[in-house]
Amino acid sequence: MAEHLYTIAINEHFGKKCGCPVCSLYSMLEKNEIDTITGAAMMEPSVRIETNRQGFCYDHFCQMITNGKRLPVALILQSHLEEIRAHVNSAKPDASEKYLSNLEHSCYVCNRIAEKMESVYSNIVYLWKTDEKFRKLFSEQPRICLPHYRALLAASKELGRKDRLAFCESLGKVTEASLDVLEGDIDWFCRKFDYRYAKEDWKNSKDAIERTVQALTSKLPAKANEDV
Ligand SMILES: [Zn+2]
Ligand SMILES: [Zn+2]
Repeated sequence: MAEHLYTIAINEHFGKKCGCPVCSLYSMLEKNEIDTITGAAMMEPSVRIETNRQGFCYDHFCQMITNGKRLPVALILQSHLEEIRAHVNSAKPDASEKYLSNLEHSCYVCNRIAEKMESVYSNIVYLWKTDEKFRKLFSEQPRICLPHYRALLAASKELGRKDRLAFCESLGKVTEASLDVLEGDIDWFCRKFDYRYAKEDWKNSKDAIERTVQALTSKLPAKANEDV
């Protein structure tokens, strides 16, 4: 491992013990990228070449817009549109289709964060291996969502066999326990629609759908417009 980046941030976000700590680290990186792209980096020619080439996903377009700086977004769109226009040519359907297909699956912000998240995963594993206090903190997490559970399983390949088994056991305890809780809450939510349980308390199940989607996708959906 070349550099031990993000170790302070990792300790800080795991120290919160509130939700998935890796989601929390992701949100921090995402906010930094959105602030930078609509701020200081906006006029950087090298950055503009990349934003023109890679574009943005819907979520990150929305975050840039709601970040409150509309002129930087318009300037980014202006040169992005110019580049897109040069590639959209009905006389060259195959080339246009290939270009747009690549663009649809590409986002400058997602790509930047993905690169940094590789360091985050790697350094979580590094901290777990070298820092006894962090190892304890890791085992005390309330949950780790499924996409980040998967990413940490992959990152743990850099450990030796014995360490990897211990790391995966600790990680598994956190994720499996939170999945068991969700399963119970979803089960109770479904039961509440059975007349035999209608008068029972909702317990902790009212937002079980939203919390389950968050655990499966890392993203908390807006609550459905239904009186439950
Ligand atoms: Zn997560
Ligand atoms: Zn994106």
